[in-house]
Amino acid sequence: SRNTFKTVVLGGGESGVGAALLAQAKGFNVFLSDKGTLSDEFRNVLNVHGIDFEEGKHTEERILAADEVIKSPGIPDTAPLVKKLYAQGTPVISEIEFAARYTKARKIAITGSNGKTTTTLLTYHLLKSAGFNVGLAGNIGESFAKQVIEDRFDWFVLELSSFQLDNMYQFKADIGILLNITPDHLDRYEYTFQKYVDSKFRLLQNMQPGDDFIYFVDNEAIASELDKKPFMVNHLPISFVKKDSNGGFFHEGKLQLTRHPRTFEISADKLPIKGPHNAINAMAATLAAMAAGVSDEQIRQGLLTFQNAAHRLEPVAEINGIKFINDSKATNVDSVYYALNSFNTPIIWIAGGVDKGNDYTQIEDLVRQKVKALICLGKDNSKLLSFFTPIVPVIIETQDVSKAVAHAVSLGHPDDIALLSPACASFDLFKNYEDRGDLFKAAVLDFALNSQKND
Ligand code: ADP
Repeated sequence: SRNTFKTVVLGGGESGVGAALLAQAKGFNVFLSDKGTLSDEFRNVLNVHGIDFEEGKHTEERILAADEVIKSPGIPDTAPLVKKLYAQGTPVISEIEFAARYTKARKIAITGSNGKTTTTLLTYHLLKSAGFNVGLAGNIGESFAKQVIEDRFDWFVLELSSFQLDNMYQFKADIGILLNITPDHLDRYEYTFQKYVDSKFRLLQNMQPGDDFIYFVDNEAIASELDKKPFMVNHLPISFVKKDSNGGFFHEGKLQLTRHPRTFEISADKLPIKGPHNAINAMAATLAAMAAGVSDEQIRQGLLTFQNAAHRLEPVAEINGIKFINDSKATNVDSVYYALNSFNTPIIWIAGGVDKGNDYTQIEDLVRQKVKALICLGKDNSKLLSFFTPIVPVIIETQDVSKAVAHAVSLGHPDDIALLSPACASFDLFKNYEDRGDLFKAAVLDFALNSQKND
């Protein structure tokens, strides 16, 4: 029998369509509304399941009559319709909040400004390869809502963005990971960093004393927030400077983990993911796996066999001994900081794209030490040029990926690194960061092939 409870879903992407399917499966009266156009696939899914929907508009009276609204993370709180919903007191929740009501699975929830996807995939891999019955969801892959229709997993590893956390109220993580908080997306937080910090800390809102909270305590924003108020959870801080009785410590190339009474240790140089930032990610994932009950031997195997997703410090090929690295996913300054820190030989840095209000002072010293040439790959490179002209000896501009690769080859020496790590969004010259990374890789491989032919 159809319930009379009216659920409205705003936004018809992966998460919105998943939420509509779940609401339908639970017998609610569902209506999905998207101001843009739906993909053919999603339109078809909605039709097949007999779910009422509209696209190209929002019919206000129907949406305002909802008993509950599930809002997609891409829709800001400042949208006039969303403001009206808040004003009249209609509950507005995220797809994650909604889906969590319908699963008995234990949840490992992962957030941060950078490193979410890597840490989520690694945590998932550690549990999965140990034989756990585990699902992967959140900001990644198939929606959480769709996956809880048949509630068949014992565990979920969830990547959560701040936009998803914003509309979460009852959701409870059993294990929470907070990697870092650095300025990003401030346009959605009234340009107030504290609001963005508050959003990330919603991860903790329903966690209890028996739950594990894993966090990078060297991050200033995290540390100062924890100084302000106590959280009654099992604290597992990760640090490069201070060893705590519980948590993670990176020292002399070794990852040292303690989750009382267990300890675990592994050398960073054994891991397939490189750089100090990945030591943080690996320590976080390992602590989560320890908390979930994965054995030492299974964790060790899992760490050694992990393959990261593409576009994250991904080695592409070597040309004349120059190592080409694709870090197209680095769309903000902080991620470039970590990318530059991952190498000890001279770097030819390929950067640029759509500026998100970047402040480059954070990486000024690193660039001075490590970058021998900068290749600007963007439509408008004025900000990069004005900041780095006094700092980097050679700067070149191009809007063509193949030319960027050719410049890198002609400027480079054996053992140099040619690093695409843009610090900017991609949509001036590319469809998205994947497209930018794919074209870069293709150009590198093409050049490598042709230079072999000419040898
Ligand atoms: P997210 O899903 O949060 O965007 P990813 O795992 O996709 O994070 O990594 C994005 C980029 O951020 C990587 O290419 C890397 O340069 C950088 N990065 C990864 N992990 C960290 C970390 N722990 N701290 C800072 N930067 C990181």
